[in-house]
Amino acid sequence: MRIGFPRALYYFDHFPFWAGFFHRLGIEVVTSPATHRQIMEQGLKKASDETCLPLKLLAGHIQALKDVDWIFLPRIVSVEADTYTCPKFLGIPESLLPAVPPGMPVLTVTLNWRKGKRQVLKDLEGLGVQLGKSSSDVRKALNEGLEWQKRYQDSMGAGWDFEESIREIGRAAKDLTESAKVPTLVTWKERMFAKMSSTALKRTAEFPIVDQNRDRLRIALVGHSYLTHESYANLNLLRKLREKAKVELVQNVNQEEVKTNLFGLRKKLFWSHSKQIFGAGNKFVADQSVDGIIYLTCFGCGTDSMVQELVSRKAREQHKPYMVVTLDEHSGEAGLVTRLEAFLDMVERRRVHEGYVSTYGECLDRNSNAL
Ligand code: SF4
Repeated sequence: MRIGFPRALYYFDHFPFWAGFFHRLGIEVVTSPATHRQIMEQGLKKASDETCLPLKLLAGHIQALKDVDWIFLPRIVSVEADTYTCPKFLGIPESLLPAVPPGMPVLTVTLNWRKGKRQVLKDLEGLGVQLGKSSSDVRKALNEGLEWQKRYQDSMGAGWDFEESIREIGRAAKDLTESAKVPTLVTWKERMFAKMSSTALKRTAEFPIVDQNRDRLRIALVGHSYLTHESYANLNLLRKLREKAKVELVQNVNQEEVKTNLFGLRKKLFWSHSKQIFGAGNKFVADQSVDGIIYLTCFGCGTDSMVQELVSRKAREQHKPYMVVTLDEHSGEAGLVTRLEAFLDMVERRRVHEGYVSTYGECLDRNSNAL
């Protein structure tokens, strides 16, 4: 049995969980190819005009899935105890049914971690029944999925690249088949710590030393994982930025740091992605070694319309250079490159001039931040 998994939207956050889950059930998961022009065009034809770019891409990826028995479109209601996903996540799969090729069955399940692990298991057991799997198989698969997801998040939290962290999942599958003699967790942790000692530890322990003599700018790219890592839709922004600066990402900030930086709000943020973006954004604003922040958003994103403004106010308070890049299906590469170069030039000049802000500029900032 082959299940089609679109390489869009929740792929960038939750694919490791589902890969581990289905792997344990002995089901092959087939992903769509990386986004290209045809996928984007097909998505635009099938998705609603009013929806956001990531959902349009998801519609295109659904149509790009070939030779599969089912298309998997989970409804992810909540991924942790006290938040929900955005309303457009909640509308899946119904909002995307027009994109499903005629006659192709859709496999779905509701995942709501607010209701606890027991309820999640119950819902997954319902999915297992459709796939002819027993409750005990599903329980083991759930634990396997959680283990793979943890590996992925730990890798990202340790500063690994997205591609490298996803590759870790392939290694997890290999470990699983070879695990008769070797305890999987130990080998994985050993490998990860070895890697951390050469890369991630440099990022933390050696920062003060690097900062004193650094010549590269350090820029934080803030935004949803499915925008920052979607290189076709974001016109290779991440790669372009990495050519000119050291880049920090929201996804590399671990949950503990996100939690400690959720301050300055009158009430808790409702959406899980927004919480992560705001917490990580706050951290980057306060971090003196971050020279500037680029907020990557997309046209039609309701949650970003609020969170982007919150992060921008924090950045203004701290006089941190800040730029918003809004993507849609018409975004052009030339315009992006021009804006990026202008922003980086400005940040560089500012670093040379010690962040000087005129009295008039300070007055403007003070007034614009009055809530
Ligand atoms: S959070 Fe924004 S970009 Fe993401 S699915 Fe919702 S509306 Fe779209």
